[in-house]
Amino acid sequence: MDRKQYEDMSKLMARKMGAHEPEYFSLPDGTRVIKCQPCEGSGVCDRCHGKGKEKNGLFSSQTCELCRGTGECRACDGEGWFKSL
Ligand SMILES: [Zn+2]
Ligand SMILES: [Zn+2]
Repeated sequence: MDRKQYEDMSKLMARKMGAHEPEYFSLPDGTRVIKCQPCEGSGVCDRCHGKGKEKNGLFSSQTCELCRGTGECRACDGEGWFKSL
């Protein structure tokens, strides 16, 4: 699957529909999915921006609390979208 293609599609839809409505779109195979809001379809952790680490006070960096170091959005596991229910 081509994730970049899905990202471009969801960004296009975000512009058309506004960012706060749940956004549905269909994958090329016909599966209906909802764009992930926390990462806005990027699949990248919103907190560390994919680095897996974050700056924190005395420590130069520590494992990102949101993604636990994976750098992927925890809401969608890095996919950028969910299967609709
Ligand atoms: Zn993170
Ligand atoms: Zn996400």
